[in-house]
Amino acid sequence: MRRSLPLSLCFAVALACGTSVHAAPGDLAPDLAQKLVDWRRDLHQHPELGNQETRTAAKVAEHLRGLGLEPRTGIGPTGVVAVLTGARPGPRIALRADMDALPVTEATGLPFASTARATYRGQEVGVMHACGHDMHVAILMGVAEALAGMREQLAGEVVVIFQPAEEGPPEPGEVFGAKRMLDEGVFDDGTPDAILGLHVWAGLHTGQIGFRSGPSLASADEWSLTVTGQQTHGSRPWDGVDPITVGAQILLATQSMLARQINIVDSPVVLTAGQFQSGVRFNIIPDDARLVGTLRTYDADVREDVIARFERIANGHAEAAGAKAELSVVNNAPATVNDPELARRVLPSLQAAVGADNVVEMPLQTIAEDFSQFANVVPGAYFFVGTTPRGQDPATMPINHSPHYAPDEAALAVGVRTMLRATLDLLEQRE
Ligand SMILES: [Zn+2]
Ligand SMILES: [Zn+2]
Repeated sequence: MRRSLPLSLCFAVALACGTSVHAAPGDLAPDLAQKLVDWRRDLHQHPELGNQETRTAAKVAEHLRGLGLEPRTGIGPTGVVAVLTGARPGPRIALRADMDALPVTEATGLPFASTARATYRGQEVGVMHACGHDMHVAILMGVAEALAGMREQLAGEVVVIFQPAEEGPPEPGEVFGAKRMLDEGVFDDGTPDAILGLHVWAGLHTGQIGFRSGPSLASADEWSLTVTGQQTHGSRPWDGVDPITVGAQILLATQSMLARQINIVDSPVVLTAGQFQSGVRFNIIPDDARLVGTLRTYDADVREDVIARFERIANGHAEAAGAKAELSVVNNAPATVNDPELARRVLPSLQAAVGADNVVEMPLQTIAEDFSQFANVVPGAYFFVGTTPRGQDPATMPINHSPHYAPDEAALAVGVRTMLRATLDLLEQRE
C-alpha cells in the first residue's frame, strides 16, 4: 500500500508531492523551473558530439560540487558520476542522463539555436541537441538539486550518472558510452539496486509519460556483408561472378527469412540495409559488393537465431553463384528491457507524478538505447517524457533527430517531478 511522503519532505520539495491526479506539468518551485530552462538553453547552445562532452561535463561537475557532492569525472571519457548519501540507510538507486549531441545542423530558428560545428567521420557538420539530451542533462541536474536539498530526510543513496556517447562514438569501432562507463568502473563504488532513465519524446504530449513493462526498445546491431565475386566485362557476365546480383539475392532472401521462418508475433524483427556499395562504371561487373545495415530485435535468442540464418543464407547464395560472402555483426546496444518487478513498483510513482490518465502504455519502439547496458547489470526502468505542447498533434511534429526538433520546455518540470517521485518512492521502498 502506498504511504504518503513525510510532511517535512513535502515542505522541502513541493514538486515531489504531486499526488494530485491533475497535477499540472509546470508546478515546480519557480526558481528550479527557471534554472531548468536556463541550464537547458545553455547546453543547447553548446552541443558536443559523443565522447567530446567536455564543456557539458564541466558544467555538470560544477553544479554537483555546488550541491556539496564529490563527482568523479573523466569516466569513459567524459562521464560524470556522483553519489548523494541520505541520512538513513536504504537502497542505492542510480539515475542516468545522456549528454551527447548529434551531427545535425539546427534549423529551429530559436533564439538559442546552436551554431556549433565539428568534424564527424571526416565531414564538417553542424552539431545540435536534436535528440533532446540537453533536456536530459538539465532534468537530472534538477533532480540532483532537489534531492540534495532534502538529504537529511533521505534514506539510502542516489547515484547520478551523466553519460557520454549514447548516440555512438564519433569514430567507428569505438565503444558506446554506457558500455565504456561500465568498463571503466562506474559501479565500482557499489552496484545500485535499480537504475532509472528517461527520454524526451515528440510522440507524446507535454505532461504525458510513456512506459511499458518488459521489452521496450530494440537491440541494435550493425551488420556488414561483403560479397566477393570476380570482375569482368558487363557484356560478358559468364566470364566472372557478379557480386551485385548475389548481394541483392541475399538481401531479398533475408526478408523472406524474416517473413517465413521467424515468429515475429512473439518478438518482432527488423533487418534493413542502409548501404549497398559496389562498382565504379556501368559496363564493369566489379569484384565485390558491400552491404551495411541494421538488425533490430527484442530477445537475445531471437537475435542469435536471425544472425545464424542470415549467415547461412549469405553463404548458401554465395556458394551457389561461385562467390564468397562474409558477414560481420557488431552489437551497438542490447534490447532495453524494463525489469517487470521494478516496472510494477515504478508505475504507481509515474501515475502519482503526472496523473494516471497521463501515463500511457508505450508500444514497442524499434529505436535503441544503450541505457540497456546498465539495465543488463541491474534492474532498470526507462520511460518517455512527452514534449509536444497540448493542442498540437504529436504525429505532425518534428521528431527526435530532426533539425527542427524543438521540445516543449515545460517537459523539463515534468521530467524532474516524475524522476524525483520514482526515486523517492524507491528509496523509501514504497509499494
Ligand atoms: Zn537519439
Ligand atoms: Zn536520444
